[in-house]
Amino acid sequence: MNKFILLNSRPVGKPVLSDFRFATEEMPVADDGEILLKTLYVSVDPYLRGRMNEEKSYVPSFELGKPLQSGIIAEVTDSNNSGYKIGDIISGNLEWKEYQVSTGKGLQTIPNDENYLSAYLGILGMTGITAYIGLTEIGVPKSGETLIVSGAAGAVGSIVGQIGKIVGCRVIGITGSDQKIALLKSKFHFDEAINYKSTVDLPRAIKAACPDGVDIYFDNVGGKISDAVLNNINKHARIPLCGAISMYNDTSQLLGPYVQPVLVSKSALMQGFIVSDFADKFTRAKKQLIEWLMNGELTYHETIVEGFDEIPQAFLGLFEGNNEGKMIVKV
Ligand code: NDP
Repeated sequence: MNKFILLNSRPVGKPVLSDFRFATEEMPVADDGEILLKTLYVSVDPYLRGRMNEEKSYVPSFELGKPLQSGIIAEVTDSNNSGYKIGDIISGNLEWKEYQVSTGKGLQTIPNDENYLSAYLGILGMTGITAYIGLTEIGVPKSGETLIVSGAAGAVGSIVGQIGKIVGCRVIGITGSDQKIALLKSKFHFDEAINYKSTVDLPRAIKAACPDGVDIYFDNVGGKISDAVLNNINKHARIPLCGAISMYNDTSQLLGPYVQPVLVSKSALMQGFIVSDFADKFTRAKKQLIEWLMNGELTYHETIVEGFDEIPQAFLGLFEGNNEGKMIVKV
């Protein structure tokens, strides 16, 4: 039998394990023009939380009682499609199933190198491209500027900070544990890092870490952390709004400091973006990321959770800060 995971209930606030349900079906068979895929690696991402709600956002909602989906790396185990052969490895947005059939539409064949397969869900996939595009297109970093990144030890944040270093910025990360701070400094070469959970006066800590003020704030988390950074921005600061994970599970009406006065007085630019807005720049982004990765200027970290049954728990772990770098499930 083939195992899969479906949306059992729509979460209210923080998602819980009972929002997911495991089910089985007959093993799928590839028809004419189809391929059979065996799931190897599954990406769990914060944006999936939004898809669990009923309201449609920039991606359609998951349907109750239907399989969830995310970025997946899979192996072609049977093919009735001339575009694919058995043993090919593909990447695509697929269902949380151990096996599934596909027409191949929307899938990308990737190099069959066991060392890098999961990287196509992270640094060479959606999160790496998001980091590159958000920082270079909206942040437009210049050598000598100060870049501060929230969610700094995660999939996007850890790449943003490293790109900032490559272009010559002073880079400060905000993250949720001392272990992650050590990782930011030792592996990713951030200049400073702040633990937002143990710091009592965050605006003050940010001011101390950024004596020349903040030129670019790459925002992955929103909420109080971002309010604290905005107190410290410089004239003509740029603020790529990538995500707001600290607010994804809020059920109450959100009220916060109003940002207009600071943006006006600092002539600052704050711009939300969805990586797919920049689809025409993906090829260039990927080429640059591969080049930096191959010449050693960029590195990456993954938290690999083992086992298909662990997918929901790995996803929930994103909201507890259980990942360093990209959270991935190896099936
Ligand atoms: P991460 O790998 O950064 O994982 C999530 C991390 O968020 C956790 O490890 C945790 O780290 C942190 N976090 C969780 N809850 C909170 C909280 N309440 N306050 C502050 N930090 C919290 O995820 P990604 O790198 O994949 O995504 C980062 C952000 O970018 C998300 O907001 C996501 O939605 C967004 N995104 C946007 C895209 C776009 O196109 N705009 C594309 C991809 C991602 P810690 O220990 O530091 O708390």
